[in-house]
Amino acid sequence: MAAKRVTFRLYPSKIKADKMPYLRRLHKDLYNACVEHRRTSYKKFGKSVSYYDQQNCLPEFKEYWEEYKELGSHGLQDTVKRVDLAFKRFFKLKSGYPKFKSSRHYKGWTYPCNSGWKACTNGQNGYLKITNLGKIKMRGQARDWGQTKTCTIIFKQGKWYASITVDCIPFRPQTDTGAIGLDFGVYNAIADSNGDVIEHPRFVKIAQSKINQIAKTSRRKKPPSRGVKASRRWRKANKTVAKIQSKVARQRQYLQHKVSTQIVSRNSLVATEKLNLKGMTRKSKGKNQRQKSGLNRSLLDVGIGNLKDLIKYKVTEAGGFYIEVPTTKVKPSQTCPNCGHQSKKTLAQRVHHCSQCGYQCDRDVAAAMVMLNDARGMERASTGADESTSTWCGSFKQVAQLKRQKLTPQRSRGE
Ligand SMILES: [Zn+2]
Repeated sequence: MAAKRVTFRLYPSKIKADKMPYLRRLHKDLYNACVEHRRTSYKKFGKSVSYYDQQNCLPEFKEYWEEYKELGSHGLQDTVKRVDLAFKRFFKLKSGYPKFKSSRHYKGWTYPCNSGWKACTNGQNGYLKITNLGKIKMRGQARDWGQTKTCTIIFKQGKWYASITVDCIPFRPQTDTGAIGLDFGVYNAIADSNGDVIEHPRFVKIAQSKINQIAKTSRRKKPPSRGVKASRRWRKANKTVAKIQSKVARQRQYLQHKVSTQIVSRNSLVATEKLNLKGMTRKSKGKNQRQKSGLNRSLLDVGIGNLKDLIKYKVTEAGGFYIEVPTTKVKPSQTCPNCGHQSKKTLAQRVHHCSQCGYQCDRDVAAAMVMLNDARGMERASTGADESTSTWCGSFKQVAQLKRQKLTPQRSRGE
């Protein structure tokens, strides 16, 4: 069993489309109230509030604010949990202090279990039933369908989406017995051990030049400031930029799925290097700042981290092996794939030419071949060691996994 996330586009009728922002606003207000509760309680009384303290307040809260009754208790609990997660991230120094959110920046709400909603579909289009909202038409296709788990309603750029997690047995046909090594780089996006090279996509560059053009004109338009609304033209320009950016995101996602599927359909052994993406994309402070930031951008354009994740779960689904070679030990860029002789190359050296055996090929391709050679040895040594099932299901995994439990009353413990 694996958990998967499927996103459907929702087509609410006029009446429902008018009501849905209202529900989103209620959830947003609850979120802000919870942040405020924690803040004042700590500042004024020095007492920190836990998730369960807030969860146990919900029934009383609903008695007073009656409009929350129709939202369903589980949905409300999830919003409270979002606050809890935000504070947990803050305590672990992963992010700043949780902020109050505006309606504009509050994307939607979640049903963490099967109550309050029902998906009337077999994975191909259908309807979404929500309590107190009724039937909403939805369109989308799931690769694998099974038992539904959670549902998140999202509002993005004027469109509504339902993101549903499903417990399913993923089906992917057994692949060919090929083996491949992949090298992700700056010069070429991906180079594989068969000698094929995928260049960096151009869509980001094209989009960036369009965005720069709009930014030029929007500087003359009136942005929002304290107490003053943004001008209509400023909002329009901003919307256009957001549209372009989301198009780039879609193009990137398409490319990632296309490339990863292509690779997995032919190979059952995939070897790559362990990348330190954070270190690679860190801002440069030295003299090569511009060059480094260009490098960062091209690394992030392809979305290497995500692409690797996609390849990993697809390979394991198809019953193959995914191996990450430790770069510090193997040194793919310095080793000759033919004889194993090691000699350092500078970054400008694009061709591998061995001084020992005279072997010659593209630098990145050579690195990919070295990784494949090493992975073959590793596979022989430990068969089936990396055969873990994929559990990738998006960023809201945490919410679904956190166990829900009632706080035991203090009295019973003392007696
Ligand atoms: Zn050699």
